[in-house]
Amino acid sequence: MSDWLTPGLAHIWLPYSQMATTPTPLPVVATQGVRIRLADGRELIDGISSWWTACHGYNHPHIRAAVERQLATLPHVMFAGLVHEPALRLAQRLAALLPGDLERVFFTESGSVAVEVALKMAIQYWRNKGRAEKKRIVHFRHAYHGDTFATMALCDPEEGMHALFAGSMPDQIMAELPTDESLRHAFDLLLATHGERLAAVIIEPLVQGAGGMKMHDAATLAFVAESCRRHGVLLIVDEIMTGFGRTGRMFACEEANELTSIVPDIVCLSKALTGGTLPLAATVARRHVFEAFLSDDPSAALMHGPTYMANPLACAAANASLDLFEREPRLTQVAAIEAQLKAELATCRELAGVAAVRVKGAIGAVELAGTVDLDGLRRRCAELGVWVRPFGKVVYLMPPFVIDSADLSVLTSAVCRVLAERAAGL
Ligand SMILES: *Cc1c(COP(=O)(O)O)cnc(C)c1O
Repeated sequence: MSDWLTPGLAHIWLPYSQMATTPTPLPVVATQGVRIRLADGRELIDGISSWWTACHGYNHPHIRAAVERQLATLPHVMFAGLVHEPALRLAQRLAALLPGDLERVFFTESGSVAVEVALKMAIQYWRNKGRAEKKRIVHFRHAYHGDTFATMALCDPEEGMHALFAGSMPDQIMAELPTDESLRHAFDLLLATHGERLAAVIIEPLVQGAGGMKMHDAATLAFVAESCRRHGVLLIVDEIMTGFGRTGRMFACEEANELTSIVPDIVCLSKALTGGTLPLAATVARRHVFEAFLSDDPSAALMHGPTYMANPLACAAANASLDLFEREPRLTQVAAIEAQLKAELATCRELAGVAAVRVKGAIGAVELAGTVDLDGLRRRCAELGVWVRPFGKVVYLMPPFVIDSADLSVLTSAVCRVLAERAAGL
């Protein structure tokens, strides 16, 4: 191990890390099921599914076999002027799974880029309709939509991690989530006042992830959708974290769709799309959005095309992941995880320094008060055999859906124990 770790670390720049003080990362040699094996032989139970991706656990034989088959015949080919079966099958399957006429799929390789494409679609949609002045975007407090420049401008400007770049990002409009009557009134007024200049509203449905694991109900999401329709503003639903079962339905927006039957105009997918195996993202548009780009005018076309878009290996992995959602009882597993998280995280609620406990689907979050020693919490959990990565003031669990109840109890008891130690000032 020492032949690659120390020399290599001298050349690596780690994500979201102050490199002067960040603890040495743990060297991983293998993964299996819900476990990460370290170079020293220890195993950690993954409480966060590798940044919310590995919904079927690691090394699922069905996904591995699909990728191996694909690797032997067509690992990659450019996607302009050429198409292939894995991408076309996947597009068809995503369209069938998503509500309404969300039926045109544009593939990219990361969530941030999927959001960028959604923004381009929304702004150009209005331009193509002769409404070029409709180009600003409304986002919500506590939102997170990515780390690229256009998406940074849609993250929470104060609590998000991008305040530093304030002057160099496009200027967008932040709203409060309309969770009560007066906020609903204010939101509706915002769209009524600025609607003429607004291209779209973007929202993370039901759970705002990296902005703090904040949760809202389906009625709030339905209200946002209705308000957008009333005021002629497109609705972009960022399902990058919530998509593929995480909140209890295949897509979180289904819960609001049952209340209003309103279908989002554009949906962004990534994270669990390939079951945590290969990078892939998709921006899916409704028929009317796509049709606004059909024209004799060449400048009406969507000018975007990542070099590796629709990579066949990633599409094969995503198709295999969707097979698993069909064959295995994933949503039932999510419901069981939800019940267990609710029962076992409830004990944290009484601890000093705990502000709130929230659970939705296979997401359990404990929000802390006071200063939080993130590195200390992470280290203690690893000592207890658990891989978690609390951020800001939130310790959260988002386990693979295949986790059994004994392993899930290991995760919840480690979190409760570490927070009890913190409360006791140990
Ligand atoms: C992770 C995430 C993104 C960004 O995805 P990347 O693949 O990291 O670029 C965007 N939106 C939401 C809601 C996310 O959770």
